[in-house]
Amino acid sequence: MPEANGSREIGGWPISAFTTCCTRLQDASDRFYLTWMRTVLIAGAGIAGPTLAFWLKAAGFEPTLVERAPGLRSGGYVIDFWGLGYDIAERMGLIAEINRVGYHVQELRIVDDAGRRRAGFGTRVFSELTDGRFVTLPRSELSRLLFERVKGRAETVFGDEIVALAEEGDGVRVQLKHAGERRFDCVIGADGLHSAVRRLAFGPQPQFETYLGYVVAACEVAGFRPRDEDVYVMYGQPGRMIGRFTLRDDRTLLLFVLVADRAAVPTTLDRQKAMLQAAYGAGKWDCPKILSELERTDELYFDSVSQIRMPGWSRGRVALVGDAAFCVSLLAGQGSALAMISAYVLAGELAAAESDHARAFARYEARLRGYISAKQRGAERFAGAFAPKTRAGLAFRNLVIRTFAVPGLAKLAIGREIADALPLPDYHWPLLARPAA
Ligand SMILES: Cc1cc2nc3c(=O)[nH]c(=O)nc-3n(C[C@H](O)[C@H](O)[C@H](O)COP(=O)(O)OP(=O)(O)OC[C@H]3O[C@@H](n4cnc5c(N)ncnc54)[C@H](O)[C@@H]3O)c2cc1C
Repeated sequence: MPEANGSREIGGWPISAFTTCCTRLQDASDRFYLTWMRTVLIAGAGIAGPTLAFWLKAAGFEPTLVERAPGLRSGGYVIDFWGLGYDIAERMGLIAEINRVGYHVQELRIVDDAGRRRAGFGTRVFSELTDGRFVTLPRSELSRLLFERVKGRAETVFGDEIVALAEEGDGVRVQLKHAGERRFDCVIGADGLHSAVRRLAFGPQPQFETYLGYVVAACEVAGFRPRDEDVYVMYGQPGRMIGRFTLRDDRTLLLFVLVADRAAVPTTLDRQKAMLQAAYGAGKWDCPKILSELERTDELYFDSVSQIRMPGWSRGRVALVGDAAFCVSLLAGQGSALAMISAYVLAGELAAAESDHARAFARYEARLRGYISAKQRGAERFAGAFAPKTRAGLAFRNLVIRTFAVPGLAKLAIGREIADALPLPDYHWPLLARPAA
């Protein structure tokens, strides 16, 4: 190495200058690291949770997912998926897989006691309104695909849950039921309609829940006959609706919706089955067969149809996304997409605000509140049409649906609900993981 004025050089530069330069670079990188590599605990690995973990990773955060179930939930019900949720899934590289596991429903058919078609419409209108970007798939499949994009890249704890939260100084001390105490910079509740994070940080659920007057149940069964490929078949009686949808691998999804008092919503499997048996026992069409399948199942999704309306979605270093923050209910037909949108926007705002979580939470809410409120109002308006309480109401609902066969009318009726009046913001994602080719 050449010597100059008694000091050593690298590439013509004195070694001392080189070392100073390296130290400064290291300091800058440490500052960058401290500012950006922030730890975020996400409760819930459903739809919003893995989406949030993916985009936080893309921005350089260290997310940890804690999921109460021992593994990803399977079965359940199918969801329609389109709009901005579809766009986000595309940005995550998931569209080909989503369309592969999904279904392209051709018809929604309402039948009478004898199974004759009474009303319905071809669902091509959804496809037309969304440029073909509309697919129906099991919620559990969407959850699995989203989770696979973060599997092995974000710490995940299954079979555990947050039982206590305490904000202190520049972080949140969290007590996990099994794993004990941990500390994170922020905690996000993505734990659904009955969010524990919401209860712990904001207060009991009844403060925020608006019950829409229905309970919903769903299960998957094997070997059911008949099978109507790509048709959603529904049968209604006053205050009750029962439907079936043919799945691959000889499986069928059964869906039940009925009017019920909030206080009467049962919590044990036996009582839930008994409630459904009582409600549909006198039903005609496929009801007897469906009820005997129901008796055999021990995996029944059963819940109230409710919305969550909160004055704010964050408190200190704790925030909520998806159903935990603003459940719109199944009546909106878009809750999964909204869960993904909220996760994407929250991650983007956290990244844009660097270490200022308060600014990020405020901007997240400012961007989405009006949009979500409109979706909630739309779902509430639709509530009466879902399972009309009287025979006259049923007949009127069927009449309205029949008019959807008139060219242009369906577009006029549902176009506004289908359109997403929110531009998806673009954020900077320095570590965006491209899917494997
Ligand atoms: C019958 C029915 C039909 C629907 N149809 C559609 C549709 O057509 N289109 C659509 O887009 N949406 C639909 N939805 C709504 C959609 O399923 C939800 O809006 C969406 O799943 C919300 O996602 P999420 O991640 O916020 O909550 P969830 O999907 O509920 O996930 C929450 C996760 O948190 C976990 N969890 C719960 N408590 C805790 C805890 N204490 N600690 C840790 N983890 C916890 C749960 O196990 C779960 O994995 C429908 C809903 C129902 C019930």
